[in-house]
Amino acid sequence: PDQGPPAVVGAGQRVPLIDGRLIDYANLDHAASAPSLAAVRAAVDELLPWYAGVHRGAGFPSRVSTRVYENARDALRRFVGAGPDAAVVFTRNTTDSLNLLARALPSDASVVLFDTEHHAALLPWRGARHLRTPDRAEDAVDVLDRALAERPACLVVLTGASNVTGEVWPVAALAEVAHRHGARVVLDAAQLAPHRPVDITALGVDYVALSGHKLYAPFGVGALVGPGDWLQAAEPYLVGGGATKVVGDGFAVTWSDAPHRHEAGSPNVVGVHAMAVACTTLAGAWEQVVAHEETLLARLRSALAHVPGLTELALFGPDHDRVGVVSFTLDGVDAGLAAAVLSAEHGIGVRDGAFCAHIAVRRLAGRARGDTQAVRASVGLGTAPEHVDRLGRALRLLVARGPRAHYEVVDGRWSP
Ligand code: PMP
Repeated sequence: PDQGPPAVVGAGQRVPLIDGRLIDYANLDHAASAPSLAAVRAAVDELLPWYAGVHRGAGFPSRVSTRVYENARDALRRFVGAGPDAAVVFTRNTTDSLNLLARALPSDASVVLFDTEHHAALLPWRGARHLRTPDRAEDAVDVLDRALAERPACLVVLTGASNVTGEVWPVAALAEVAHRHGARVVLDAAQLAPHRPVDITALGVDYVALSGHKLYAPFGVGALVGPGDWLQAAEPYLVGGGATKVVGDGFAVTWSDAPHRHEAGSPNVVGVHAMAVACTTLAGAWEQVVAHEETLLARLRSALAHVPGLTELALFGPDHDRVGVVSFTLDGVDAGLAAAVLSAEHGIGVRDGAFCAHIAVRRLAGRARGDTQAVRASVGLGTAPEHVDRLGRALRLLVARGPRAHYEVVDGRWSP
């Protein structure tokens, strides 16, 4: 019962400030990528001496690697609550997973989605119907219901939690509407999966897409989990070794069965193992992970509330349920400048910009004051309470100083 949340690597790492001093890095940038879990590092370390080509050799390391790789499919199924028949395709990331599904749709498929999504969810669907995200989450259900009653669709694309505002979408209610109209649902769980359990069955979605690097594993690996029929019927969009059963004379190709037909090239067995171990570790510690984050999020929002001229962005209002992500604008201070000063003077990592969700940020930041960029602070297992307090102090100083703070990069170093 006293067990804390899982440890990450790099905690307490020191980073240089502009004056040359070293300071404990304040990681408020988990929504970009999360640090690896200690359990992930141990698992990778154990596999490194043994990895070899998956499905490509009879030697012991190849057999070990093949076993590790195929077992990871079970870990991913368990992590998202999918049944034993669900297909698990290992991809590079969520972007790759959603692009793959877009290529695998039946040829006449029509797609519906809300317009404030991350570009990875927004852009792969040519000719999709984009619904304007309403101001209240409850209204999203009616908006979708009306759109599908007017014209049915084959697939509805939903996001579990916004990477801009952290707000959690009413996925179960939306999926119920989609199914009532005969549409399948794909959930972009990139931002939800690191924070809360994602259960395909409880949420009633069909496919889940996620990224390892947001889930406390390193880069280069993601997954698409869901029914295998469309994936089995679709030609691979990336072709090469592993995707084929036979290449006959005259280039007559018989593709492998799904999921292998969508995993051409030598598989990233170390990355896949890392992601699977991250999933298993999180799944064994949800209570601690969620409690840790809720404490930090409350502390973060109270620190931000004491910064004059700070406006939080929200799709559905300040009180809507959210994971540990908060974006904001500052009166009179450019987001890029704020992020640079936070790093250079305080050793704090945040992100600034439009977070690959330009429509959402333009709409929400524009509502505040016509900004097109924001600052995003996101907490997770690599964040300590002191980091949040430091951000609050740093922002108050920054706002008091105003736009006079000016930095540029000279020879790769920040210079006042
Ligand atoms: N969707 C959401 C909600 C995200 O937060 C992200 C990553 N920021 C993506 C999709 C894309 O993930 P990746 O860059 O790993 O493909």
